[in-house]
Amino acid sequence: MSFIEVVGTKIDTRHYINGQRVSSEQTFTNTSPIDGSFLGEIARGGANEANAAVAAAKAAFPGWWKLGPKGRGALLHKLADLVEANIETLAQLETLDNGSLLRSHRRGVMPRVAMNIRFFADYAMNELHHDDLETRGHTNKISWDPSGVAAIITPWNAPLMLATWRIGPALAAGDTVVLKPAEWTPLSASFFADLTKQAGIPDGVFNVIQGYGREVGSALVSNPNVARIAFTGSVPTAKTIAKAAAENLIPCSFELGGKSPLIVFEDSDLELAAELAVEQYDNAGQVCLSGTRILVHESIVDEFSAKFKERASKIVQGDPRDEATQIGPQIHQVHFDRVKGFVDRAKAEGANVVMGGEPNAELGGLYFRPTLVVDPTPGSEIVTAEIFGPVLNVQTFSTDEQAVQMANDTEFGLAAVVVTGSRERADRVTAELVAGTIWVNCFFVRDLRAPFGGSKKSGIGREGGVWSFDFYADVKNTVFSPNGWKE
Ligand code: ADP
Repeated sequence: MSFIEVVGTKIDTRHYINGQRVSSEQTFTNTSPIDGSFLGEIARGGANEANAAVAAAKAAFPGWWKLGPKGRGALLHKLADLVEANIETLAQLETLDNGSLLRSHRRGVMPRVAMNIRFFADYAMNELHHDDLETRGHTNKISWDPSGVAAIITPWNAPLMLATWRIGPALAAGDTVVLKPAEWTPLSASFFADLTKQAGIPDGVFNVIQGYGREVGSALVSNPNVARIAFTGSVPTAKTIAKAAAENLIPCSFELGGKSPLIVFEDSDLELAAELAVEQYDNAGQVCLSGTRILVHESIVDEFSAKFKERASKIVQGDPRDEATQIGPQIHQVHFDRVKGFVDRAKAEGANVVMGGEPNAELGGLYFRPTLVVDPTPGSEIVTAEIFGPVLNVQTFSTDEQAVQMANDTEFGLAAVVVTGSRERADRVTAELVAGTIWVNCFFVRDLRAPFGGSKKSGIGREGGVWSFDFYADVKNTVFSPNGWKE
C-alpha cells in the first residue's frame, strides 16, 4: 500500500524522487508516540534510492540555477503560500507523528515553516550583495553561486521546522535538495513533497528519501555527487557523517546537541527566572537548545526553588492534541528508555531527585514526568550528558567567576540563558560565555537574519541570514582588469 490516511489526509509512504513516487522492497513501521498506535508502513530506502535521488537532483541543478533568485523566489513563495494554506493538516500530522503540542504546531511551528521558505527566498533576491572591491584599478565582483546537490538530514524533535530551516536557504541559493527525514517522524516531509509539486518546483529539485540513517542516510552522505551536507542530530552520528564526507571533501554544516546553562543571578527577577526555567521542559525536554543545567546563586536558591516548584507542579502533561496540555510524551520507546536510564542511574547513585524521576503512571506509555535533580554530583552524567528529556538539574554558585566557569565546563556550546537585573553584569558575563546563542532574560527568541549554530561539540558552522548562503552557495570572486577591452 502506498498511501496511509492520517487525520483525513492521504500521505504517500513512498520516496519522492525526480517528481515521482518510488517504493522500496522493504518498509519500516511508523507509530504515534501519543498512544503507540500504528500509523503505517513506510518505504525503507537504501543505497539505490539515495543514489537515484542524488542523480535526479544533480540533473535538475543546471535548470534550477538558471532560474536565478527571482525565478526561484516566485516558486518558493508559492510553496510558502501552500504551507500556510495547509497549516492545520501539517500541524495535526506532525503532532500525531512526533507527539509535540498541536497548539504550538498550529500557532508557532508551521507558520515558521512557511517563514523559513519565504525569508530565505527574499534574502536571496534582495540582500545578497557585496560592494565591488577595487584593487589597483581592478574590480573584484563577489557573487553567491549555487553549489550543487545539498544533502539534508534531519532529526525527529521538530521535523518540518528543522528540515525547512535548511531546505529554505538551500533552494533559495539555487542548490537542489535530497532530504532524509528521521525514521521516527517521516510523515510531514512526505506531505511537504506533495506541496513542492503543487507549487511547480521542477522535478528533481527537491527529493525525499525515507529510511534508516545507517542505510539510506549513510549512502546519501557517501555519494560523491553531493556538494553540501547539512545535518542536525547527535554528536556520534555527526562523527560518522564527517568521516564519510571527508572521503569526498564535502563541506558540512552540523547542528548538534547541547547541555546549556541557565544562570540565575542574585539580582534577578525571580518570577521571570522561574518562568524561564520551567520553559526548559517544553517539548518534553526534547530540544537541543534547552537550558538543562540551572545554575543559581546560593543566596537565592531556596526562594528560586520554591517558585520553580510551584510553577512546575502545575505543568499539565497529557495528550498533545489537548489545548490544556503543556508537555506530551517522549518520541519513542527507545528514547524513553534512554531518558529513564539516565534518571534511574542517578537515583542509584543517590542523587537528590526532588520532582518527578519516573514515568507518569496515570498516562502510561511514553509519558515521563518533569524531573528535577538538585545538587547532582559534579562530573556525573546527569550534569555532563545531553539527556534530551524532561530532566533538569540545579547547582549553586557563589561568585560570577564561578558561574561562568561552571557554565563553560561542558563539551557543548549551543546556547546559554542568563537571568539578571543588571545590564553591566549581563554584558560582562555574556562576553565570557562560550555558546552560539545567548538569551538574556528571555528564551527562544529567534531572528532568521541572525547567526545560529553551536560552539565546541555543539556544531560546525553557522546558518541564518548571510551565513546560510555562505554555506549553501559557492561564493565566487571575479576580478576584472582595466586592460584588454575592445569596446
Ligand atoms: P537522534 O539521537 O536525534 O536520533 P541521530 O543523529 O541518530 O540522532 O539521527 C539524526 C538523523 O541522522 C536521523 O535522520 C537519522 O536517520 C540520521 N542518521 C543516523 N545515522 C546516520 C548515518 N550513519 N549516516 C547518515 N545519517 C544518519
